[in-house]
Amino acid sequence: MNEERITEKLNILADAAKYDVSCASSGSKRKNENKGLGNASNGICHSYTEDGRCVSLLKILLTNHCIFDCAYCVSRKNNDIKRAAFTVQEVVDLTINFYRRNYIEGLFLSSGIFKDADYTMERLVRVAKKLRTEHNFNGYIHLKSIPGASDELMNEAGLYADRLSVNLEMPTEAGLKLLAPDKNQQDMIKPMGYLKNAIIKHTEEKKLFKKAPLFAPAGQSTQMIIGATPENDSEVLHSANYFYKNFKLKRVYYSGYVPVLADSRLPALNTAVPMVRENRLYQADWLMRFYGFKVNEIVNTAQPHLDLDIDPKLGWAIRNMQAFPVDVNKADLQMILRVPGIGLLSAQKIVSARRFGKLNWDHMKKMGVSLNRAKYFVTCNSNEFERRDLTGSNIKQFILATSQSKYLKNTQTQLNLF
Ligand code: SF4
Repeated sequence: MNEERITEKLNILADAAKYDVSCASSGSKRKNENKGLGNASNGICHSYTEDGRCVSLLKILLTNHCIFDCAYCVSRKNNDIKRAAFTVQEVVDLTINFYRRNYIEGLFLSSGIFKDADYTMERLVRVAKKLRTEHNFNGYIHLKSIPGASDELMNEAGLYADRLSVNLEMPTEAGLKLLAPDKNQQDMIKPMGYLKNAIIKHTEEKKLFKKAPLFAPAGQSTQMIIGATPENDSEVLHSANYFYKNFKLKRVYYSGYVPVLADSRLPALNTAVPMVRENRLYQADWLMRFYGFKVNEIVNTAQPHLDLDIDPKLGWAIRNMQAFPVDVNKADLQMILRVPGIGLLSAQKIVSARRFGKLNWDHMKKMGVSLNRAKYFVTCNSNEFERRDLTGSNIKQFILATSQSKYLKNTQTQLNLF
């Protein structure tokens, strides 16, 4: 291997891959049972940067050549940049070398489109197949699925990769048409539908036959770029909800548009999406998936954007003061989960612990409840009740005065662009 050339390719193709945020590796149960290399179980791939992004995968493109011209993408065919392409064997060698040196715990492999979807997908699948079958590699593999790739290739990809993802790119079809006229939302939906059915089928088989092969054990995910097109948070969350429900996605990743290209269809170059908008979308996403909130409770026609000052759960509570205070010693789990400052674990601890006695502030504090929020919304077995008939906006002011969000330092004007 010509090391200089490989290093140059790595610089180009790792840099081009950095715009894809959908690389978290949770959920895989692949085990090293054959004295092979690596082990995607035991959580070894769960390494995240401070802002929640995964860092321990070799994250590269197979190539940044592309026949398409998506306006938001640095690899678009009409962008004048240095191009490079790895061979299948080069990616395999790099992954094994990096893994042996303990630099990485797995591979995240995406690609521009060489000449058509199948030609590109076939190469991605070959990388995964070689790693698994020739090198006994049991580390984590996340493959991007190329929209429009055949069912046969998607099936093969599922047999070797832990996670597969098809990027929706834009939250709506209209947004996609505007910025990626070569793409067709149906080409993304079709492989997602195939994967959903194949994952269900293989999961059933695995229950019946222990030796049945794994198929994308970490499921499928997608990514939406936020802020390149005018969709509001309500449209983004409704779209995410639709894909969670209909395609059994494990995760939707929200990637704030990074303005790197000048184009009249795109926001101006100096208007990056504030990190806090991404963060609020992830919080809302969490509420939909784990806290029993419906999209319409988080955002609606009257309030299509999430409040950037406060998290969406606090926002809902303040708009629904008639639902509070909640008595933590009596309320059901679903209602306790709606209290700002009480997370999933704390809510479960509360419900278990109150069987043995009435809970007070001290008990709740020990269970991890954030009392500086929860105290306005709950009653318990303590005399002190700190809500004191405050209005929702009073509570918001009190909470804001006592908390500082690291994201708020970076609130630029993205929301005012459209
Ligand atoms: S198809 Fe993918 S790599 Fe090609 S321009 Fe569009 S987003 Fe970029």
